[in-house]
Amino acid sequence: MRRIRPQFTVSQAAAILAVVAFLFTTAGGNAAVPPRHDRPVPILMYHVIARAPAGAALPELFVQPSDFAAQMSWLAAHGFHAVTLHRVYEYWLRGTPLPAQPIVVSFDDGTLGQHIHALPVLRRLHWPGVLNLKVNALKSRYTMPAWRVRDLLAAGWELDAHTITHPDLTRVDDARLWQEVHGSRVALERLFHVPVDFFCYPSGRYDAHVVAAVRRAGYLGATTTNYGLARPQDIYTLGRIRINGSDGLSGFAKKLQSLTR
Ligand SMILES: [Zn+2]
Repeated sequence: MRRIRPQFTVSQAAAILAVVAFLFTTAGGNAAVPPRHDRPVPILMYHVIARAPAGAALPELFVQPSDFAAQMSWLAAHGFHAVTLHRVYEYWLRGTPLPAQPIVVSFDDGTLGQHIHALPVLRRLHWPGVLNLKVNALKSRYTMPAWRVRDLLAAGWELDAHTITHPDLTRVDDARLWQEVHGSRVALERLFHVPVDFFCYPSGRYDAHVVAAVRRAGYLGATTTNYGLARPQDIYTLGRIRINGSDGLSGFAKKLQSLTR
């Protein structure tokens, strides 16, 4: 079922809100100014939730399951509450309430440990994850076959698109760009019957041309690998917080505390 598209983009809505707030304050009356709903939100970025095999080419992409569990417990103990990116978008656009300390826990590519290790941890907390799925990950039982994706969706996870083959989108021709950006959305919606409203740039690679294609494909927003909090003014280039294998619990806590205090 297709969701009705909002009438305004987040940046348009923010601009309108700013004008309304300005008119209220300059009128000199006691009229209430609408509460702000442009707070930045942290989006965590994980890749593989598993112990790195000896000689792994990119060991930092592997976060040990025990570290992941400790990191989520730390978040819960410090008042954080995970939400989907869609809820953050609704908050930015319409002021729909969020928990006091919202956070998005996103997983890129679609790898086995995201289902085997991350799902039970998040489920215990009643938290959703956000899966940025590369469509070709569905082809192998060693990555993220469809039944595992359905399990995540049943647990309240959000499904977002991460292309079909994970190319550098700044280096492909227009036909391929459209196939990867729009085609991945169509494929995922057809397979899983859920809205796929957000996009994640493979390896964080994008330029103005790629962003334009993402907008044209109807996505409401997109995530990057730019380090930092996600802000509504960057709705198509949202920042995230990369969690590395070497972070452990202390490095994780340091990243969160330095960005959100
Ligand atoms: Zn990726």
